[in-house]
Amino acid sequence: MTRIFNSDRRDRCRADRPDPFPVDSLTRIDRPTTLIRDQEVPRVDERDGGFHKAALGHYGQRLQREYKRFVPKYPLSGALVSMAGALGPLVDVTGPAAEASATPWGASSWRPMPPMAEKRAPLPDDPSAMSRHIKETSYFLRADMVGICELPPYAVFTHSKATGAEVECDHKYAIAILVDQDWRTTSIFNGSDWISNSMSFLAYTTSGFIACILADYIRRLGYEARAHHAMNYQVVVPPILLWAGLGEMCRIGDIVLNPFLGPRFKAAIVTTDLPLAVDRPIDFGLQDFCSKCNKCAQACPSGAISDGDRVVSNGYEKWSTDVEKCTSMRVGNQQGSGCGTCIKVCPWNKPYTPFHRTINWSMRKMPFLRRMAVWGDDLLGYGKPDYQQQWWLDLEDVDGELQAPRPQGTGPRHG
Ligand code: SF4
Ligand code: SF4
Repeated sequence: MTRIFNSDRRDRCRADRPDPFPVDSLTRIDRPTTLIRDQEVPRVDERDGGFHKAALGHYGQRLQREYKRFVPKYPLSGALVSMAGALGPLVDVTGPAAEASATPWGASSWRPMPPMAEKRAPLPDDPSAMSRHIKETSYFLRADMVGICELPPYAVFTHSKATGAEVECDHKYAIAILVDQDWRTTSIFNGSDWISNSMSFLAYTTSGFIACILADYIRRLGYEARAHHAMNYQVVVPPILLWAGLGEMCRIGDIVLNPFLGPRFKAAIVTTDLPLAVDRPIDFGLQDFCSKCNKCAQACPSGAISDGDRVVSNGYEKWSTDVEKCTSMRVGNQQGSGCGTCIKVCPWNKPYTPFHRTINWSMRKMPFLRRMAVWGDDLLGYGKPDYQQQWWLDLEDVDGELQAPRPQGTGPRHG
């Protein structure tokens, strides 16, 4: 949705390339730069995620209590998650169970979606033409980046956390939709203050909105499609982003980092049987870059990010993170709502200006400049908050009453 205020990105799309970023300049490879032993990657149960464990009290009673309020305690993130919840049942024709959106922040009412068209539309036979059309449509709907891959079987959850039901999703293709969390706000906040969750849910909600519309559109063309978003996933997002050429795994654990947005995005997915041409994984040197840069590990307030080497776990060779520490910080943060400090400090979290495009190109193409890029980032003061530019209000819902929270920085709104 940030694109509404940044129409220049849409203007960057060209006749020969629908994407607003120069994805054709990226090095394409056959497999992701992260070693994935396909046969050893187990399907996972969505109920094993950190937030679900916090909700069930696995991380203690305080976090179990805080889980119910850690998003809506800030009014803007509360409004965003409320809208995300409304999208919960809109993922498919059967609108799988209104319970899917029965979050602690309020269930939405059941809204049946139109059935899939019985007769297929007369579409181009060429899967490349359809992929291009799907990307153009996604950008029209205000996506910031889009990639397509075949759906890896191990990317399908075994069970849904919302219903506990076994998940079945045998669609052949996955369309991944990225939405920017907003550069300007990441340049202002400190990473874990009151706007943090709003940035996450801006991108969760907007990418989910796009995915629900896109899936409905594909069903109207006569092909199966299901949207997957933060309020109703059936698939694990990171491996899809890797195979769809939207990034590489970075030091922040299970996070995929995009060469143009950095880690500053959230993703929604559409799975479908519409025949599509797929993208290939990319290599922009991030494994080497993260091995030389520890900024996220040094800045993480909970110590969740490893400053060591990659390890093999569940069939992936990647940096490990402590999910309990990260979840505890995000859910239990008493001086803000959520946490995105790792996103804030990452050298890849930059605006798309001519200057930063040049630095970005150097970081991708010139390995010997990478240490200097990390050093230069510190030197230029990136990663520090700029409260003089603060546009949001610091507010906290305490027992149903909005109060000025204890000040964390020097925010001008509250003395
Ligand atoms: Fe650490 Fe915060 Fe990032 Fe979690 S979100 S890994 S706590 S910096
Ligand atoms: Fe990699 Fe540095 Fe970004 Fe962490 S801060 S994800 S180490 S580039």
